[in-house]
Amino acid sequence: MRTVELPGGEAIPVLGLGTWRMGEQAQLFNLEVAAVRHAIDRGIRLIDTAEMYGDGGAEEVVGEAMRDSGHHCRDDLFIVSKVYPHNATYEGVIKACESSLQRLDTNRIDLYLLHWRGSVPFSETLDAFEALRASGKIRHFGVSNFDAADLAEWCSGSGGEASAANQILYNLSRRGVEWDVLPACRDRGIPVMAYSPLEQGRLQGAPVLSQLAERHGVSPLQIALSWVLAQPGVIAIPKAVSPTHMDENMAALEIALSAEDLVLLDAAFPPPDGPSHLEML
Ligand code: NAP
Repeated sequence: MRTVELPGGEAIPVLGLGTWRMGEQAQLFNLEVAAVRHAIDRGIRLIDTAEMYGDGGAEEVVGEAMRDSGHHCRDDLFIVSKVYPHNATYEGVIKACESSLQRLDTNRIDLYLLHWRGSVPFSETLDAFEALRASGKIRHFGVSNFDAADLAEWCSGSGGEASAANQILYNLSRRGVEWDVLPACRDRGIPVMAYSPLEQGRLQGAPVLSQLAERHGVSPLQIALSWVLAQPGVIAIPKAVSPTHMDENMAALEIALSAEDLVLLDAAFPPPDGPSHLEML
């Protein structure tokens, strides 16, 4: 799979799997574990989760899927998790990370993110991230839902320059971040993780996507995903429980949008012509 480089040079895949809404209902646990295993079997190596999702339930789904995951070992996978802003004090981060590690049934998180900006001073969170990194409990850290100003402030704090990613809402219908957040990340060599790359399915009905889907013999949402995947330095983490959706998302890696396709997409979903507030879901 195509990769994107973290600031330290480590290559991570451009397509991962999201897990929001997993782990919320006990009766769906086995189905969701099977879905994550299917993704791993199909070659997905990056899995995004958070202590928030299903109140820890999504991390348990991922933990169970990693256990006995055929011939794949933990080292093959790149696990991303996130700490709540209200747990972002020094002690809070350390404790939250320990709990996440337990639910994930692993000894390390590959990338640990501050889920969004809260009221805890960045220096405290950064100190905790550094301590976790020094002890090997996390390999990289970063942020989520940070606008350009937040990112500048975070990166100027002691240790902040080591940040490895900014996970933000980015898809065809949410292009405001192209004005300043994406350039700010690119300037710092920090990959962007595009969350809700399918706008949670709401992009389905866009006529231009149907038109291009027909041209390429794929589905409208595969076109939407291929557009995100075509953006330099961007990783997409669509969530799918349906194996068909997952296979379609993998196949979207093969779609080559032409210059003409991109013009049509820009006309239907124009890039920003000025700054805007960072959107979040
Ligand atoms: P999304 O990935 O844009 O959309 C997920 C929805 O699309 C699910 O209902 C899924 O259905 C469906 N779907 C997936 N592939 C499809 C396909 N090929 N064709 C048709 N439908 C398809 O939305 P998201 O879950 O909000 O975002 C993705 C991940 O980003 C999350 O799961 C989470 O890990 C992360 N996230 C992070 C934040 C943050 O604040 N950092 C916020 C939101 C999301 P099925 O599940 O039924 O297959």
